[in-house]
Amino acid sequence: MFNLESIVRPNVRNMKAYSSARDEFKGTASVFIDANENNVGSLAGAGYNRYPDPHQKKLKEKIAGIKGVRPSQIFLGNGSDEAIDLVYRMVCRPGQDSMLHLPPTYGMYEVSANLNEVQLDAVQLTPEFQVPVLEVLRQVKVTTKLIFICSPNNPTGNLIKAESIETLLDNFDGLVVVDEAYIDFADAPSWTTRLEEYPNLVVLQTFSKAWGMAGLRIGMAFASEEIIALLDKIKPPYNINEATQELALQALEQTEQLAYMIEEIVQEREMLVQALPTLDAVLKVYPSDANFLLVKVKDANGLYNHLLEHGIVVRNRSSLPGCEGCLRISVGTTEENQQLFQAIAEF
Ligand code: PMP
Repeated sequence: MFNLESIVRPNVRNMKAYSSARDEFKGTASVFIDANENNVGSLAGAGYNRYPDPHQKKLKEKIAGIKGVRPSQIFLGNGSDEAIDLVYRMVCRPGQDSMLHLPPTYGMYEVSANLNEVQLDAVQLTPEFQVPVLEVLRQVKVTTKLIFICSPNNPTGNLIKAESIETLLDNFDGLVVVDEAYIDFADAPSWTTRLEEYPNLVVLQTFSKAWGMAGLRIGMAFASEEIIALLDKIKPPYNINEATQELALQALEQTEQLAYMIEEIVQEREMLVQALPTLDAVLKVYPSDANFLLVKVKDANGLYNHLLEHGIVVRNRSSLPGCEGCLRISVGTTEENQQLFQAIAEF
């Protein structure tokens, strides 16, 4: 049986969150000389002399409305990378606990594990890039606190079968983190709709992909109120800066524009899925539910360098076990995709 109390790090359970004077005082005030800010002004623009809202109240309310969850089920991080790191810090005792991930997958699960002295156990995805569930459950140890699943998976682009994730959620007593950075490009419901069923589920999403705000650094974790309260307790108090909070709030008003961008990207993706296999250099284009394609080619290093000579940078994944001979290519604009096609055709 999953029991959050029993898997949370004792120091995290016992510590107090950082608390500012502005957080503690109740009532109204007009003079704020409590936080050692510059009360004369700011060279960056009006308002930026003040620290941002550490609870991101307005933003969380807005996101809650869009995502159909309660504000108390949302954690906001400086990119979802920060959420990944804080999930480790919440449950993994350095030097003692372990995690499980499923390569080929997103690299930060491993980087963050190393940084936090968490032992990394890996179970390779199947040749179809699906989760070998029974093998994963066999590898679970008493010290395993986390399983990271990326769906749609980076760099393979495919969704992970819902039944596999359900089996892990039902049979693993630690946290199952489902990273949905690319979910907006997929033809599938988000796991945020299953939060009430699974107290051990953490869903990650980001504003860096479909929303087009990678430069602002803002990502989300959705989970039970208890898990979110713990993440909020251990985060740096001002992790989402004021400009980002304002710009994200504005962007969230433009859901029509979002739908348009997603449609455009998915259309371009499907164009590439049709067009690339007609080229001599291309062996296989893997099906994708994301905004990128994993492409198996005859000579990955050669083509990678050839594209560079044409001023085109793709991600060379050919040395990654499971992705031998593959390049990962983000969907560009129509013009960029044409340039890519032309350059590959000339290889
Ligand atoms: N998860 C996955 C699967 C990703 O591919 C990425 C970014 N490449 C992230 C998380 C990190 O996103 P963010 O910009 O929100 O930190």
